[in-house]
Amino acid sequence: MKILVVNAGSSSLKYQLFDMESGDVLAKGLCERIGIDGAITHKRPGKENYKAEASLGDHKAAIELVLKLLCDPQLGVISGVEEIGAVGHRVAHGGEKIRCSSIIEDKELEYLESIVEINPLHGPPAISGIKACKSVMPNVKHVGVFDTSYYSTMEEKAYIYPIPYELYEKYQIRRYGFHGTSHRYVCAKAMEILGKDDAKIITCHLGNGSSITASIGGKAVDTSMGFTPQEGVPMGTRSGSLDPTVVTYIMKKEGLSPDGMEKLLNSKSGLLGVSGVSSDCRDVLEAQDKGDNRSKLAMDILVHYIKKIIGSYIAEMNGLDALVFTAGIGENDGIVRDMICKDLSYLGIEIDNDINLSCGRGVQTEITKKGSRVRTFAIPTNEEYMIALDTYELVK
Ligand code: AMP
Repeated sequence: MKILVVNAGSSSLKYQLFDMESGDVLAKGLCERIGIDGAITHKRPGKENYKAEASLGDHKAAIELVLKLLCDPQLGVISGVEEIGAVGHRVAHGGEKIRCSSIIEDKELEYLESIVEINPLHGPPAISGIKACKSVMPNVKHVGVFDTSYYSTMEEKAYIYPIPYELYEKYQIRRYGFHGTSHRYVCAKAMEILGKDDAKIITCHLGNGSSITASIGGKAVDTSMGFTPQEGVPMGTRSGSLDPTVVTYIMKKEGLSPDGMEKLLNSKSGLLGVSGVSSDCRDVLEAQDKGDNRSKLAMDILVHYIKKIIGSYIAEMNGLDALVFTAGIGENDGIVRDMICKDLSYLGIEIDNDINLSCGRGVQTEITKKGSRVRTFAIPTNEEYMIALDTYELVK
């Protein structure tokens, strides 16, 4: 069966077509500037990329163009749309009610619309993308795979915030957690290697957005992102966790509205805010090497917060079998992995830095030092494959 995976953003739509028998990606691409002017990049393994400008008024126009290209005699990889067995949609937020990957019918769409208020950035484009795909491909099943659903196994003590309980009941303010599909994928990979059903694993998804998750036996017990993807460790432009009073104090002092304050915390903080150089970890490390003190401070803060969360999750789980790094920084940056793992030997984490610093970028590698109690891995994430797999399992 062939599964199309779709990830709709506000002005973009990413796609990948999988052949589930072989696990191969047959084609993938990106529609950009939807609703503005429009452009598409279409890629097939081993073939030259196709790039074109195209009038893309909305998500429906984008998916129509994607299907046209997939079926094109020269540029395509299938002979007709009927070869697509199902569509898997990446959806950031499933709220409290959608607790696992699900076939999306009217009832699910209505529920997703009802929670747009707690997911204002990612909810509307995801819904628009699903509706567009359903209208263009009405005869196949559409499956939603939710970043939040991996966290449905967390206990109340991990997801209820210590604020008046009525606020949770009234507004569903709680820890949801994000990047769940990525954590689930790399945790499953580590479990396969360990061959232990009740393995205690910490997965560090460190990219532009970063989150850390603790899992026992492939089930999440805690995670660093919360009500929104703003909580937890510092990120490219996001602050991560703060004393809440810092927020109200800045608002008063700087005369900022709630929207203005959210912008400061979301797009002007983190690595960018402290270094003043860049949100990109590579740029900040380069500036640190050239002697820029604020860049060094930004990296030191990042590592400090990550270590604190790793330590707290080991305490929470009363042990650890494996530590996993993934996403842009986690998969590729041996220097950051070294900074994090340094001086964690008391907790049983020791890495072989020769392997760590020389391992291929984006290649699954065990970086454990001989004799270390905890095994440590760099594992490339593959959220799209996980979405395709869930979709396949649900429809086959
Ligand atoms: P992501 O959001 O997963 O795409 O990750 C983006 C982050 O990963 C940026 O901070 C980049 O600096 C970092 N990154 C991406 N590729 C590399 C690489 N090859 N080496 C080091 N860092 C990288």
